[in-house]
Amino acid sequence: MGQERAVKVGIVKAKELSVVFHSAYLLNGKSVVGAHVFTLADVGCHFVPQASDASFTLKDVVIGIGFHWERKEEQTFCGELVLMEEDGMLRAVNVVPVETYLTSVISSEMSANASLELLKAHAVISRSWVMRMMESPRAGRLPSLDTDTSQLSTIHIRWYDTQNHTGFDVCADDHCQRYQGITRQSNPQVVKAIEATRGQVLTYEGEICDTRFSKCCGGMTEVFESCWENVHHPYLVAKPDPYCNTHDQRILSQVLNNYDQETHDFYRWTVSYTTAELSALIQKKSGIDFGQILDLVPMERGASGRIITLKVVGEKQTIIVGKELEIRKWLSESHLYSSAFEVEKTTDGFILHGKGWGHGVGLCQIGASVMGDQGIPYTEILSFYYPHAELTNLW
Ligand SMILES: [Zn+2]
Ligand SMILES: [Zn+2]
Repeated sequence: MGQERAVKVGIVKAKELSVVFHSAYLLNGKSVVGAHVFTLADVGCHFVPQASDASFTLKDVVIGIGFHWERKEEQTFCGELVLMEEDGMLRAVNVVPVETYLTSVISSEMSANASLELLKAHAVISRSWVMRMMESPRAGRLPSLDTDTSQLSTIHIRWYDTQNHTGFDVCADDHCQRYQGITRQSNPQVVKAIEATRGQVLTYEGEICDTRFSKCCGGMTEVFESCWENVHHPYLVAKPDPYCNTHDQRILSQVLNNYDQETHDFYRWTVSYTTAELSALIQKKSGIDFGQILDLVPMERGASGRIITLKVVGEKQTIIVGKELEIRKWLSESHLYSSAFEVEKTTDGFILHGKGWGHGVGLCQIGASVMGDQGIPYTEILSFYYPHAELTNLW
């Protein structure tokens, strides 16, 4: 067992950053306190708190980028602040101990009334995820795009991996794990869950597991390679999930925090478009002019029913698109809940009959919430969603 590590979290990227230091921070041996506006001229500044309870506030942090609930917030953090340059903009990076980071992530991700076992399971998967990002950084890996125009139809297969930050380990948005510093009061149950699982991660054959999770698998979990690159992880399997078919608001509210509760029907959902709406939407989202959309034909599905490749048939051209996130992006103003849908053609358009919310790989948060509510221990929740993985103590 080793020492607890610190994680570098990329918070916000902007031309200018408004920061308020609530107590003294050190910059090159000088004390800094109060309100400041930083610009590109301040790249390289590294602010170190002088007291363990010191904190700073960042103004106008955009959260939920590209999601239906995108909004701006003022956020407060403890730990160090580093100003970096990224794409000609200023990037604020917060350096915090892993266990402190996790307390915030789980408080942001989960509602305060979640069961202790669910929170413990979440603590372990979040810790595993962040440690994997720090231990085996695959920085600079770009979303993959295969385009093959030699076929009758063009093939557009793309996936988005989370491991593409340079200069810091993880970002603060849903792209990695939602991190809002100490903006929200950390819940005593979350603190208890973090302490009870301190240093614990999931491993497989000595390596930290890729502990993917999503909101609701829809009744069947999905394998990794249906959504990302063609690599099989023996602990990410497709299996029936008998737990997540619930409309119990008390249980749903354990996983869905306030703004997420704007969405209710995601175990089974329908989305309808007229042909004109769908044609305009796909052109806007893909940047490709298909003319009028004539058909959507699922070509390949994963075990959970998630569409891996979808043939989009238009008047002007036909393209096969994949994988699941790219399909979800093309078929919705923000993101379609999942790619596990059936296509119904109507006289004037299309109805998508879908199930689940998210990619469905690894832990299903709604299912785990039901398990936790039934008093099933976190170790069993983890072995249900990540079979063959082991619990290991890092510190
Ligand atoms: Zn990220
Ligand atoms: Zn599920």
